Amino acid sequence: MTTLIVGGGWSGLAAAARLSQQGHKVHLFESARQLGGRARSVDWQGLEIDNGQHLMIGAYRHTLSLLSDIGAENGALFQRLPLDIEIHDPDYPPLRIAAGQRLPWPLSLAWRLWRDNGTECLAQISRLNWLATRFKPAQDITVETWLRQANQSPRLIRQLWEPLCLATLNTPIATASAKIFATVLSTTFQARSDTDLLIPRLPLGKTLPTFAEQYIQRLGGRVHLQSRVEDIVIEAGRVRGLVTQNSERFDADNIIMATPLATARTLLGEYLELPDCASYPIATVYLQYPSSYRLPAPIIGMSGVLTQWLFDRQELRPGLLAAVISGPGEHEKMTKTALLEQVTREIHQQWPGIPVMAEDGLVIREKRATFACNVDIQRQRPNNRTEITGLWLAGDFVANPYPATLEGAVLNGEQTAIQLMDKLNASR
Ligand SMILES: Cc1cc2nc3c(=O)[nH]c(=O)nc-3n(C[C@H](O)[C@H](O)[C@H](O)COP(=O)(O)OP(=O)(O)OC[C@H]3O[C@@H](n4cnc5c(N)ncnc54)[C@H](O)[C@@H]3O)c2cc1C
Repeated sequence: MTTLIVGGGWSGLAAAARLSQQGHKVHLFESARQLGGRARSVDWQGLEIDNGQHLMIGAYRHTLSLLSDIGAENGALFQRLPLDIEIHDPDYPPLRIAAGQRLPWPLSLAWRLWRDNGTECLAQISRLNWLATRFKPAQDITVETWLRQANQSPRLIRQLWEPLCLATLNTPIATASAKIFATVLSTTFQARSDTDLLIPRLPLGKTLPTFAEQYIQRLGGRVHLQSRVEDIVIEAGRVRGLVTQNSERFDADNIIMATPLATARTLLGEYLELPDCASYPIATVYLQYPSSYRLPAPIIGMSGVLTQWLFDRQELRPGLLAAVISGPGEHEKMTKTALLEQVTREIHQQWPGIPVMAEDGLVIREKRATFACNVDIQRQRPNNRTEITGLWLAGDFVANPYPATLEGAVLNGEQTAIQLMDKLNASR
């Protein structure tokens, strides 16, 4: 009995890999020429870069254990760094968040917060982290409201919480769900190793997508690229199969939809009620400077300007930087040239040693990077299991405690695989 999986992003691949691991046959259909979905590689003048700069953290347990189970050596794929980030703002001194290594956790974090930023910052950040572990309001509220209720200063809101909320939820604090943000904070700061930063050493396509494809095929599964699924055949309340763009029909008793929400709505709208969530963009600006230029640290935050995060991509090519701007905002209306100019100007203003113009630049805009993680989004996210027999949902938008992330996508893929296997085993 073969299960069909629609979508070769990290969620569909996780579902396919876990089912294959259990000895279950899968066919995975991906409309694009390559696997990876929103976390994939693209070519830029002969250099493989990512469609958007991604960052993982040590708390991504599902993703990291899946990678090692399918034969990928995490150390070879990711540069793993202890948390140590400075956020620069034109109006405030730099704010530094470092895990610290000498004292037991979380004392080392507290000590570094106090040493690097003073008593007031330590008190406020500790208070929010403490509140995050106890955040159980009857009703969700916005992150902005939560921060004000927790007496966070305008400086910390602007220099820490707003950039962190955009980086993790891709949603501005004015509308973002405090419930999800609190979960992100409490999960990330549980243990020192959870706060580690993992920057891909390789193009993203060469990480989970490559290893998962090989693993699935080794275990007898098939991966169909450039195979857009155009119809899911459902009769009398149960799945029968699917039809691809070439009018090929594949029959099956179980199908996992692991596409973005918008595609799931198009293909299943007549059978299932799926939410119509807004989505938000992420822009990544790649800048190539002469090879001798480097950032003072692998990751740097910026607040009070358009640029939000800077990554030194030395490992891909010397002199390469990636600047990330998450969420909705004025950057959406700017031309690519204007965006390139503004980001390079902001970098130069912060570090005058870096030239005001890069040698080359590329803007990649993902208009629907993630679903908007607004207040009450948790009530709208559907479950893996649907009321149609044999139809399952995966993808980052399916219910879990997290925002749209690689970890959420992998977790949902795995959960769907587990539930499907349980059902199959029970009916044997
Ligand atoms: C620019 C950017 C930066 C990001 N940064 C981070 C980050 O730093 N950290 C982090 O954790 N997360 C980040 N994310 C979010 C993360 O990439 C996504 O949450 C995750 O990749 C979603 O995976 P998915 O498998 O659920 O969906 P997708 O990756 O969207 O996969 C769905 C797949 O389905 C395919 N498909 C669609 N329709 C069909 C069809 N009809 N037939 C067949 N196939 C179809 C698509 O081509 C796609 O490959 C970022 C996202 C973007 C865009």
